[in-house]
Amino acid sequence: MLRTTKPAFYILCLLTALLLTGCGGSSTPSPEPAAEHSVEFFAMDTYMSFRFYGGDASMEKQLSSFVTDMEKELSVVREDSAVSELNRSGSVQLSDAGADLLRQTLSLCAETDGALDISVYPVVRAWGFTSAKPAEGSSRIPARDTLAALLEKVDYRQIRLEGNRVFLPEGMEIDLGAVAKGYAGGAMAVMLKDAGVESALLALGGNIQAVGCKPDGSPWRVGIQSPDKDGLLGVLSVSDRAVVTSGGYERFFADDDGNIWWHIMDPGTGFPAKSGLLSVTITGENGLACDALSTALFVMGPDDAVRYWQSHRDFEMVLATEDGRLLLTPGAAEIFEPDENLSYTVEVIRND
Ligand code: AMP
Ligand code: MG
Repeated sequence: MLRTTKPAFYILCLLTALLLTGCGGSSTPSPEPAAEHSVEFFAMDTYMSFRFYGGDASMEKQLSSFVTDMEKELSVVREDSAVSELNRSGSVQLSDAGADLLRQTLSLCAETDGALDISVYPVVRAWGFTSAKPAEGSSRIPARDTLAALLEKVDYRQIRLEGNRVFLPEGMEIDLGAVAKGYAGGAMAVMLKDAGVESALLALGGNIQAVGCKPDGSPWRVGIQSPDKDGLLGVLSVSDRAVVTSGGYERFFADDDGNIWWHIMDPGTGFPAKSGLLSVTITGENGLACDALSTALFVMGPDDAVRYWQSHRDFEMVLATEDGRLLLTPGAAEIFEPDENLSYTVEVIRND
C-alpha cells in the first residue's frame, strides 16, 4: 500500500508533484483569461478532442490538418497511404515527419528488444484487428501454421531507412498504429508552443498530451480508465507530459470458450500478449516514447516492465495487473490520486 500516514509525507508529495508538474498553483491569475479554442473530429480510428487556451483560432485547423495529413501518410487501412504503398511494393519515400517517426520507432523496437515490433502487422491482421471496430465475425483465432508462416516475416531489424526512403524485405508489412498517436500528440505540443500557446490538452482517443498547465496554473488532471469495469483507476496530475495507456480492454473478442483475445500481440509468439497485465499507463516528456512503451511494456509483463523502468527511469508508469495489483513507479505515485472505488492494491516500485 502507499505509505501515506505522516503529514510530512503529504507535504513532500505535494512539493514533488508541483516540481514534477511544473505548475505553480492558482495564486497568480492572469489579468485577461486566454481565449479557449477547441476542435473535435474522428481520425486515426479514434475520437480526437483538442482544447487550447490563447493563440489563434486558425490553430484549430492546423492541428486537425496535421493529424489528417499524418493519417493519410501512415494509415495502414487507407489504400492510398504511403505505408500501404510500402507494404505493397517494399519501398516508399516518407515525409520528414514520417521518417522521423519511423527512425525513433525503430530505435524503440531495439530498445525494447522487439517487444515493440512494427512488422507484427500481418499477425495483427490475421487476428482480425485492423481497425477500431473489427467487422462482425472478422476477429478469429488463426491456425498455428498460419501464424508460424507469418512470424517468419516479423523482424523490425530488417527494416532499412536511408534518408526518408524506407525499404522492407519481401513479404514484410508494417503498421505504426502503436506509436502514431503519441508522435502526433508530441508534435502538436511543439506546434502549439511555437505559436505561443502555453496551455492545452490534446486527447487522441486515450492518448493524452498536456501542454503546460491549466489556465488557472494548476496541473492537468488525466484520468486512467479502469481496465475491467466502468470508471477510473485514478487520476494523474501532469503538465507538459504525455499520458498514454494501452489495455487489453480497448479491442478484443471472446472465442467460443469465453477466452478473451486482444489487439496487442507478442511478436515472439504471434498470440495476443497474455503477460499478467490488464493495462499499462506511461507518462513522460516524449509522446512517441510513451506510446511505444505502453505497448511494449504490456507485452513484457509486470516483472520485465519493472526491470525496464529500473534501467531507464526517464518515464513513470502505472501497471494494472491481472492479479489485482496497481504497480506505480515512485514518481507516478507522487502525482497519482487513486479513485475512491479503486479495487486494486497499490504497490510502489522500489527506487533501487
Ligand atoms: P497501442 O494501442 O498503442 O498499444 O497499439 C496497439 C496497436 O499496435 C494494435 O492495434 C496493433 O495495430 C499494433 N500492435 C499490436 N501489437 C504490437 C506490437 N507488439 N508491436 C507493435 N505494434 C503492435
Ligand atoms: Mg502504444
